[in-house]
Amino acid sequence: MNIFQKTESEVRTYSRSFPVTFTKAKGAVLTTDEGKDYVDFLAGAGTLNYGHNNDVLKQALVDYIMADGVTHGLDMQTEAKAEFLNTFRDLILEPRGMGDFKVMFTGPTGTNSVEAALKLARKVKGRSNIISFTNGFHGVTGGALAATGNQHHRGGMGTSMPDVTRMPFDGYLGEGVDTTEYLEQVLSDPSSGVDHPAAVIVETIQGEGGLNAASFEWLRNLEKVCRRHDMLLIVDDIQSGCGRSGRFFSFEEVGIKPDIITLSKSLSGYGLPFAVTIFRPELDIWSPGEHNGTFRGNNHAFVTAATAFKTFWSDDSFQKEVQRKAKKLREGLQAIIRKHGNKTLELKGRGLMSGIECPDGDLAGAVIKGAFEQGLVIETSGAHDQVVKCLVPLVITDEQIDFGMKVLDKAFAAAMEKRERKAS
Ligand code: PLP
Repeated sequence: MNIFQKTESEVRTYSRSFPVTFTKAKGAVLTTDEGKDYVDFLAGAGTLNYGHNNDVLKQALVDYIMADGVTHGLDMQTEAKAEFLNTFRDLILEPRGMGDFKVMFTGPTGTNSVEAALKLARKVKGRSNIISFTNGFHGVTGGALAATGNQHHRGGMGTSMPDVTRMPFDGYLGEGVDTTEYLEQVLSDPSSGVDHPAAVIVETIQGEGGLNAASFEWLRNLEKVCRRHDMLLIVDDIQSGCGRSGRFFSFEEVGIKPDIITLSKSLSGYGLPFAVTIFRPELDIWSPGEHNGTFRGNNHAFVTAATAFKTFWSDDSFQKEVQRKAKKLREGLQAIIRKHGNKTLELKGRGLMSGIECPDGDLAGAVIKGAFEQGLVIETSGAHDQVVKCLVPLVITDEQIDFGMKVLDKAFAAAMEKRERKAS
C-alpha cells in the first residue's frame, strides 16, 4: 500500500486510473518519479489549455512573486486585479460585444461560479425553478449538483435537491427530434406541472456527460424559448470555454447571447484555482457582500490569466491554430473509427473537445487502460463512461497528436481483439 492508498480518502479517482507518481510536467507531457514520460490527453480535465508550466505565464508569475506582489487579497483592489479586468474586458469581452458585462469573482472553483449564477438568476427573476439538461454536469456543491444529471454524483448529496427541472438535451430523443419543442410546450401549458423557471443552464458541449455537442440550431431555438418565456440563459463554459471549442467562448460561432456565463478551469491559464461569473450589467442586483468567499482574490491567478489573454488572445492567430489542430485530431479519430468499427464507434464533441463513443464503458475502459500502458494519459466520460475523451492542451504539438493517435489505434485494436476473443 502506498501513501495515497493508505491515507487519502476513497473518494480519489484519477489516481486510480493513473497509478504512478508524477513529479514534473511541461507542455503536454507529464513525467513520473521513474522518469517515464506520458503525453497528457487530459490536461487537468480542461484546466491546462496552455499546457503545463507555460514559460511565458511562469515568468510573469515568478516576477510577480519575487516582487512581493499581493498573493491573497479578499476582494480588495489590487494592481493585479486591475490588470486582469482591463485585459479581460479589452481582449476578450469587448471584441465579442460584451464590453459592458459585469465580472463577479466567486470562490475559486467551477462549482462556485455555477452556484453564483443560479443564485443570481433566482434573485433577479424571483423564481426558484431552473431548467437543466440530461447528462449535464455543473459541479458537486448543492445548487450545482441539483442541476447535474449524473446519478453517481447526485447520490453523494444524501439529501433531496429541489427546484431543478431536467429536460432532454439535444439528441437525447434521437435524431430528428428538436427537444426545445418539448420545452416550449411544457412551459406554455399551465398544467404541465413545471413551474415557471428563472433560467436555463446549458453546456454547449457536454464535457462530463459524454462530449455531446449541441447543434447550433438547437442552441438558437433554446435561446428563443428563453426569450419567449422570460427566462435567463446561462451558458456553463467552464470546460468548453477559454479556447477549447476553437473560439474563446464556445457559443461564439452559434451567435447566441447568453445572459450569464460561468468560467473557470483554464481561466487562470496556469492551473491555478480561479472562477468568475459574468453577466449583463442590468442583472447586477447584488448588494455588497451578499455573496462572498475568502478565496475570491487569487492574485497569482489574476497575473497568469492576464498574461494568457495578452499572449494568446490579442489576435486570432492562436484560435486559428486551435481550429487547425482540432481538424487534425478529429481526422485522426475518424481514421481510428473507420479502421476499428465504423458501425459501433462514433465521433463525438467539437473542437479540441472531441473523442470516440464506444458501445459500452468496458470497451472504453480497456482502451484508456491500454493507452496508459503505452504512455498516454486519457480519460473516459459519459453516463456509462463509454466515451474516450481527448482533452488535449491547446498548445499540443502535431507530433504529440500523432503519437496519441498511434497509441489509441493500438489500444483500440487490442481492446477489440480481446473483446472478440471473449465473445467467441
Ligand atoms: N461545469 C462544468 C461544465 C464542468 O465541466 C465542471 C467540472 O468538470 C464544473 C462545472 C465544476 O467545476 P469544478 O470541478 O472546478 O468545481
